[in-house]
Amino acid sequence: MTMSPQAKTDALLVLNAGSSSLKFAVFALTGQGLVQRHDGQMEGIGAAPRFMLCDATGAKLAERSFTEAEAPKDHQGALGVILQALKPLIDGATIRAIGHRVVHGGRDLSAPVLIKPAIMAQLRALVPLAPLHQPHNLAGIEAAARHFPGVAQIACFDTAFHRTQSHAAASFALPPRFYEQGILRYGFHGLSYEYIARRLAAEDAALGQARLIVAHLGNGASLCAIEGGQSRATTMGFTALDGVPMGTRSGQLDPGVVLHMLDSLKMNSAEIAHLLYHDSGLKGMSGISQDVREIEAAGTEAAEAALDHFAFRVRREIGALAASIGGVDALVFTAGIGENAHKLRARICAGLGFLGINLDPEANAANRPEIGRAGCPVRVLIRHTDEEAMIAEHALELISAA
Ligand code: ADP
Repeated sequence: MTMSPQAKTDALLVLNAGSSSLKFAVFALTGQGLVQRHDGQMEGIGAAPRFMLCDATGAKLAERSFTEAEAPKDHQGALGVILQALKPLIDGATIRAIGHRVVHGGRDLSAPVLIKPAIMAQLRALVPLAPLHQPHNLAGIEAAARHFPGVAQIACFDTAFHRTQSHAAASFALPPRFYEQGILRYGFHGLSYEYIARRLAAEDAALGQARLIVAHLGNGASLCAIEGGQSRATTMGFTALDGVPMGTRSGQLDPGVVLHMLDSLKMNSAEIAHLLYHDSGLKGMSGISQDVREIEAAGTEAAEAALDHFAFRVRREIGALAASIGGVDALVFTAGIGENAHKLRARICAGLGFLGINLDPEANAANRPEIGRAGCPVRVLIRHTDEEAMIAEHALELISAA
């Protein structure tokens, strides 16, 4: 669906810059609020880039790879290609703001902000806390500012939603000077949790006040305890390595293991970082893949061990998070695994009956929105998350308030 030049639609652009990818979404501001029109991504930036553009139904409008000579070399180049492809579709629309996903807002940024030079400096100072993500997020902002001078740029943080946590929940048991230096549990996936919390509150006011445990299980995975719409505890900590095992990340590890790798196995920090970020989790344990579909299909002993461990760790965190908020009224699954992997959901929930969590096997196998057994005290839900929509909502709120 294109935006009619006559209509002079106002639109918002959302950018989500990763290390080698630039995802985007375009939303129109209509009488009915924000409506997504297009989305897509450039993957493989710096190597073999591939571009894809879809309409609001998910139908592909364009897909292409590039010769070496034409391949965009960096995020700036990637944004150029994206905008060229979008141009005929958004011609005549006024881009009112550009919303950016930024992984780290540090201790102080607890809400989305309009980007000004002082904010950029603040965000740059946080690069050491998220060296794999923050520089790319900032590159996306700089690229957008060059393409759209004068248009409001808004940063939305993965960490912001968790700034409502108590000191007890957010601290490590270290001398206070480390907390003062910023070594604390920031938590991530905040935009996803906020989106789910807002949508549930909109569909049922009781859920807005309820004790929720949201399991965001995708390639990256974490869980969050939410009460009255606010984050109380989450499984990711100082970095996005903590918590449950993920596609390729280890999740929580005894810090003594890292010391042992350094001192006895003589691994250096780059080797350990590579192991923990890229060669661990479901991929590392199964020796097959990071993708649950491929691991389930393989059915080897190592594959079973990986799925069993994943389910065990997620189940254990559900129990721990329930303890952190004095019980649970609803358990919500979201993201690629959470929304689709019904066998794994069944494994996770097996044994949670003591908390009042029981699945309806048929509803679970069909990935229905409500998968808890009728009459059970805890609702078990599946909801699609949409971080880009959350960013667009924030951007609209900020420009409307200005
Ligand atoms: P990301 O964190 O990269 O956004 P996603 O939320 O898209 O990841 O999750 C991707 C993962 O979801 C895949 O690697 C796979 O493990 C899982 N997944 C997606 N679809 C299915 C499915 N139909 N059955 C089981 N697992 C699935």
